[in-house]
Amino acid sequence: MKHIADIISQLTLEEKASLCSGQNFWQLKSIPRLGIPAVMVTDGPHGLRKQAGSSDHIGLNKSVPATCFPTASALASTWNRELIFQVGEALGEECRAEKVAVILGPGANIKRSPLCGRNFEYFSEDPYLSGEMAKNHINGVQSQGIGTSLKHYAANNQEYRRMTIDTIVDQRALHEIYLAGYENAVKDAQPWTVMCAYNKVNGTYCAEHPQLMTGMLKEQWGHQGLVITDWGAMNDRVVGLKAGIELEMPGAKNGNDALLVEAVQNGQLEEAALDRAVERILTMIFKAEETLSEDVTYDRMAHHALARRVAGEAAVLLKNDDMLLPLQENTSIALVGRFARQPRYQGAGSSLMNPTQLDNLYEELARLVGSENLVYAPGYDERGDQADEELIQEAIQTAESADVVVICAGLTDYYEVEGLDREHMRLPPAHDALIQRLSRAHSRVAVVLSNGSPVEMPWVNDVSAILEGHLGGQAGAGGIADILVGAVNPSGKLAETFPRKLEDNPSHHYFPMGPTIVEYRESIYVGYRYYDTVEQDVLFPFGHGLSYTSFKYRDLQTSSSNINESDTLTLSFQVKNTGDIAGKEVVQVYVRAANSRVFRADKELKGFTKVYLEPGEEKGISIELDKRAFSFYHTGEEDWVVEPGTYEILVGASSRDIRLKGSLEVSAQQPSPIEQPAVYSTFPKGSPVSQPDFAALIGEPIPENRKPVKGAYTLNTPVGDMRGSFIARQLYNFMESQMAKMIEGQEGTPTAYLMQAMVQEMPLRSIMMMGNGPFNREMLNALLDMVNGHFFKGLFSFIGAAIRK
Ligand code: BGC
Repeated sequence: MKHIADIISQLTLEEKASLCSGQNFWQLKSIPRLGIPAVMVTDGPHGLRKQAGSSDHIGLNKSVPATCFPTASALASTWNRELIFQVGEALGEECRAEKVAVILGPGANIKRSPLCGRNFEYFSEDPYLSGEMAKNHINGVQSQGIGTSLKHYAANNQEYRRMTIDTIVDQRALHEIYLAGYENAVKDAQPWTVMCAYNKVNGTYCAEHPQLMTGMLKEQWGHQGLVITDWGAMNDRVVGLKAGIELEMPGAKNGNDALLVEAVQNGQLEEAALDRAVERILTMIFKAEETLSEDVTYDRMAHHALARRVAGEAAVLLKNDDMLLPLQENTSIALVGRFARQPRYQGAGSSLMNPTQLDNLYEELARLVGSENLVYAPGYDERGDQADEELIQEAIQTAESADVVVICAGLTDYYEVEGLDREHMRLPPAHDALIQRLSRAHSRVAVVLSNGSPVEMPWVNDVSAILEGHLGGQAGAGGIADILVGAVNPSGKLAETFPRKLEDNPSHHYFPMGPTIVEYRESIYVGYRYYDTVEQDVLFPFGHGLSYTSFKYRDLQTSSSNINESDTLTLSFQVKNTGDIAGKEVVQVYVRAANSRVFRADKELKGFTKVYLEPGEEKGISIELDKRAFSFYHTGEEDWVVEPGTYEILVGASSRDIRLKGSLEVSAQQPSPIEQPAVYSTFPKGSPVSQPDFAALIGEPIPENRKPVKGAYTLNTPVGDMRGSFIARQLYNFMESQMAKMIEGQEGTPTAYLMQAMVQEMPLRSIMMMGNGPFNREMLNALLDMVNGHFFKGLFSFIGAAIRK
């Protein structure tokens, strides 16, 4: 490795500042005279999106072919750490072959609401499962000498106004729910980079948040790598650098490099702080250079086969009445639904990539059962917005003579896309109608779903089987076909609860709120932590998934019935395959604090393992629980603490299917009492928490939630919110025209929708990054003066700024 201190001593101040932002969309800066190469970073997370031609961060332009693995919501449903590691390894190999230093992912944001448009890119509603998955993904990639970017740190749980929204969250929920997965992954896997999110957390932009970026990440968790901004997330560059943001992406057309230089020159920023940032950046660049100096290739077929295996292991068999699945030999199958031939296998937005090949269920099934046993009807059109009577009739006729109907349904890209949250939790109307009508016409119906987040299923009782295929990647269809015919025994389990209806979700009263803040009034009661605490009936619980075989659990033992808070507890129990075929079971360990003085969820996931068992085979499982498994985040002590008392250990096949129970006493010092409004101790089922109660929990008043008015606009105000002003309307039109140029030829596509939403919500400062950068910061500030009502002052400043430019 090159001697970094030496190199830093030879860099000019300007060069140091320049290294703190990208050269362009995907590359970091190079300084050839000192042997600093330009390295490349690209999306992620579930496949490489290396754009050889035009660049963008929303999936507009094509990327080089690479393997499209199942997206994170599918990966997490495998609950298989080793398999996720292997996916990471494969991604790392592809990066090496394509000379990419860092792949931007994984995303470990918590699924607070089923509606977040980007849930398909995230793992789970549970921080422990998210953290374990992220850790293994990172370790896999980085085992290849390639970096990752753990994103979007932090509390970025919605798309609506993602660039400006202020997440108001109490410290317990922040630490226990929204940070815990990142902490786990950072401490154990040391991602080369962490990507800071666009939003604010409790009043401060993530890109300027010393508590999150330095206090937690660097000091408490010991992160050795660097923090990079999400694309365009930087606000005040100097404040950002001081807070711990080393690298601004993409290139700083906004003049931020010069601001860093100026800040050092006028004493506002210590040069040592800049040196520390450059040291982290150079360490990463040289690590990558070492890996990338070697030319390698990868085995496309092997990666495709891995993608198929993962898709098969991720699929969750939600329901299987009378063992409709697996399909018996020589069953005649009516395969219905356009997705059978035009699969939905990945999500739109920045993760949209170009697969090396793409399987579809019709062909994969035909290969396994013979095309003579298969008939097909599309059932709905591309958009699926309206039931099409002709297509439904055709499907009913096609299904008439078949033994079994397999309906492929799910969410289209129009219903689920980065940049836009869903408005409801339903399937496209044409998909629901098709399922409803076919299940009336035929008694043996299986539904295969392709979607990145939960959906309501008004037809759940009318069909025999439901297989959740998620967004299964380029080989997803093969994975599903394997399960349908029984070549693979399903072993996926839900990494998030499927509520019966949106209104049952605890965040729904306060999602997505805006225009300026979103209040996380449900606090720690996210996902099953809420549903299980208030005993809300759900469609399918967290951790649920059926198999073609059955498993029996017995004999839970704990290494001690009385431990000290610093001891590690070992649990052991037996799991037996009591059926006739081999299978894998995901066993889950939950902990319940039985007599807590602070509010706690009914149970929390603290351990899991996936075990393979031959028919009749029994294996002993042992799982360790350390102090963290019993702790909560104490807001007074600003640390995780254990309360003394009784804890129950619950071992189950899902959060609602607990098979074994044990309990133990944990001794610890009684922590000091903390303030908590009573409503959180007996959390209300179905009704919202009031704002005063939430304010009492936070310990301060909730900021006002309204758009700024003329006179108070800033560079962070979304241009769409200032359109009362003539000048702002011109700026808005300029932004729209830039976007229109970008989406030329793709009008009406999900990506075009996403772009339109982005324009509405983009803060004024984003204009500096657009086109050829017609406005610099000085000019924008002058324009802002005009918009704010100081017309002549602004006009003169603008003319001066334009001349200087
Ligand atoms: C997304 C990131 C992505 C980046 C680069 C952003 O808009 O939020 O997840 O890595 O673009 O494409």
